[in-house]
Amino acid sequence: MLPPYICDTRPCVFPTSKDEGNRQESLTFRRLNIKIGEFYLIRKNSTEHMTFRNLGLSEATLKAVEDSGYTEPTPIQEQAIPIVLMGRDVLGCAQTGTGKTAGFTLPMIDMLATGRARARMPRSLILEPTRELAAQVSESFERYGKYHRLATALLIGGESFGDQEKALGRGVDVLIATPGRLIDLFERGRILLSDVKVLVIDEADRMLDMGFIPDIERIVGLLPYQRQTLFFSATMPPEIRKLADRFLTEPKEITVTPPASPAETVDQQLALVHGDDKRAALREILRSEVIENGLIFCNRKRDVDILVKSLTKHGFEASALHGDMPQFRRTDTLERFRSGELRLLVASDVAARGLDIPRVSHVFNFDVPIHAEDYVHRIGRTGRAGRLGTAITIAQPDDVLHTQKIEKLIGRDVPRRALETVNAANWDDRPRRRRRNGKAASVEPESLARERPRRRSETSPAKQMRRRHTEAAPAETFRPDTAFGEHIPAFLLRPGREAQSV
Ligand code: AMP
Repeated sequence: MLPPYICDTRPCVFPTSKDEGNRQESLTFRRLNIKIGEFYLIRKNSTEHMTFRNLGLSEATLKAVEDSGYTEPTPIQEQAIPIVLMGRDVLGCAQTGTGKTAGFTLPMIDMLATGRARARMPRSLILEPTRELAAQVSESFERYGKYHRLATALLIGGESFGDQEKALGRGVDVLIATPGRLIDLFERGRILLSDVKVLVIDEADRMLDMGFIPDIERIVGLLPYQRQTLFFSATMPPEIRKLADRFLTEPKEITVTPPASPAETVDQQLALVHGDDKRAALREILRSEVIENGLIFCNRKRDVDILVKSLTKHGFEASALHGDMPQFRRTDTLERFRSGELRLLVASDVAARGLDIPRVSHVFNFDVPIHAEDYVHRIGRTGRAGRLGTAITIAQPDDVLHTQKIEKLIGRDVPRRALETVNAANWDDRPRRRRRNGKAASVEPESLARERPRRRSETSPAKQMRRRHTEAAPAETFRPDTAFGEHIPAFLLRPGREAQSV
């Protein structure tokens, strides 16, 4: 029987050769005994319910999927798996939580099932922006590939080079890496990328934020031109689209959940207080809510530690998660949070981005995120898989513009939450700074200045450089002043290796 996405078999019916059809012979069609030129790949007319079996995966992979307890493919899996199996490039606009990892992992397992890897020459490469995401993808390969004999290796910072080099030496079918460590190993001559047949660039927009794009460009330049590329990003800003245009060949574009639609199941609230009162506001909220487990986001790494200390002092059990922590502590903290042993996790955006923590009852924005998209990502940590969740943002008058941007992006106002023990503030309470000529009169109170993250221009150039290496700030904010006008040479924009540790 034909799968439902093949609803008609006529010779050479390609509605648009670019989109619906693919002339390349593929495993899927060989497996289904369909000859190229005989299919019409479109599911619109089909009324049949989609199952994993219909997607063209092998029996062994289907069994692993069944063992994982998945009954139905998610929309991205439904759309991506057949396309990946056909050997086509994919441009996927999908957030974490949509099942995108299995969307590329499952077909890759089948595609790599035949063939053998040579020492130091991986057959496929998956680039992830953070170590945690890389480790998560590696776990997915283990889980879904348990009935196959694929060799996987994880190349991430903070782990010993020796073990990673040994793994590479044994031959690797699937290499999962963060860009910095991969380049380090390449430069040491421990890896050759000329045999990579499938490349996955995951979380491309986060790579951009972290300043990894020059590294990615360099890595892609080391790969064979003839390859399959799967490119995923939660958002598609113009820079990302340009990059995709360069790396992909006639990709199938797949978009699931528009990037700006926070889950309907999340109850969003915003408490507007004075900067000085933010911690008290958070404490009141933490005491008044029934919290199974909560993720508390700060905009900056150093504030994560400060907030954990403050919460601990007031009797809350909370731990930090950010890129300056050693890897073993990050892993341990995450495990404790996942298992329910730890109830409150205070995190920076990058450290928490994309982490798969299925049950998070509350998300707190201790700081209003600077990028509106981050708000969507943050609150998307709760209310997943149809469960209810609560997202509470603590804003101060200074945050008016960022809050407006968020509300514009999500298309509605975030309902205000009144507190009992903390006075509400107004957006107009925003103090103005005194100018030298004395024209603008009001002065920013010191307390507020303490709470407010320092702007880049307020830090010394040396600190800015250091931070560039460790903190995930948007790449464009790192543009140095040069005499090149709009054009900044790549070597000046290039981030340090440590950036991958965030
Ligand atoms: P991801 O977006 O890849 O991070 O996946 C988010 C979560 O969805 C992970 O916990 C997966 O185990 C889970 N998941 C992936 N595919 C399915 C599926 N078809 N049915 C149910 N859960 C899934």
